[in-house]
Amino acid sequence: MTAQLINGKEIAQSVRNGISGEVDQLREIGIIPGLAVILVGDNQASRTYVKNKQKACQELGIHSVLIELPDTLTQAELSGKIQELNEDSSIHGILVQLPLPPHIREKEIIETISPEKDADGFHPINIGRMMTGQDAFLPCTPHGIMVMLEHIGYEIEGKHAVIVGRSNIVGKPAGQLFLNKNATVTYCHSKTKNLPFYTRQADILVAAVGIRDTITADHVKEGAVVIDVGMNRNDEGKLCGDVSFEEVTRKASYITPVPKGVGPMTIAMLLKNTVKAAKKIHKVSL
Ligand code: NDP
Repeated sequence: MTAQLINGKEIAQSVRNGISGEVDQLREIGIIPGLAVILVGDNQASRTYVKNKQKACQELGIHSVLIELPDTLTQAELSGKIQELNEDSSIHGILVQLPLPPHIREKEIIETISPEKDADGFHPINIGRMMTGQDAFLPCTPHGIMVMLEHIGYEIEGKHAVIVGRSNIVGKPAGQLFLNKNATVTYCHSKTKNLPFYTRQADILVAAVGIRDTITADHVKEGAVVIDVGMNRNDEGKLCGDVSFEEVTRKASYITPVPKGVGPMTIAMLLKNTVKAAKKIHKVSL
């Protein structure tokens, strides 16, 4: 078997086309969705992510503001900046690029963002709403995974989803979204003993670890759907995921590549959240 590629770049483009139509409709009634991105310090990877997010906003006509702050800033200064943006009527989505410098208490910062402008979907109120099946701003990467599966017409109900990784921004919410769609969910992490025992039971295997070649053919059941969230570098310095792509592709039924897999979906979902926030704040339904 050779897996079919799930082309995240193409799916993200079709999502973006839909969002673009909504942005145009909003513009006609005088509303321009606005996203503010806060970048603290000079982390090169963060800078690249932020640049990509801004470029995507510009392409769709979403107003985007980049706020660059030095890594010497205090907790109070950063909170103050967020509070200003909470009050700013031209801004509908606020994103604080993670990671933050070690002296900043990240969880408190996330809680400072108004839940109604929570473009990343990381605020505990939105996480709680997601867990209880209410309307919420969903975390972008897990949401992007669900949209990809929907796009290929994959039926999630009754399937076994195994999530490798339990971070608050990817692994944990991904499992929750699968549960919301009536999958049976197993979480694995660094303390899991005998990882292949669990992953080999997966109908849907999500790798969100950040270590290349964590998932080899030996970890995968014949015909499984494999979603690779990881963003790592190989020996040649090229971007790669957590999955040993060449060997797993011969066993899986569907697989996401890295690059052009989950990454573009994450950005598309950020744009979606920003437009959703603008519609909610202005009480517009399109
Ligand atoms: P974290 O480092 O926060 O979490 C990694 C998770 O992997 C942890 O839960 C950890 O377990 C688990 N883990 C570590 N080693 C192993 C192992 N050997 N076996 C099983 N589990 C293990 O990372 P993130 O969730 O933030 O990101 C994961 C990856 O996804 C990264 O490569 C990141 O760059 C990428 N990413 C990609 C995005 C995209 O848009 N494509 C968006 C966000 C992230 P424990 O909890 O026990 O420590």
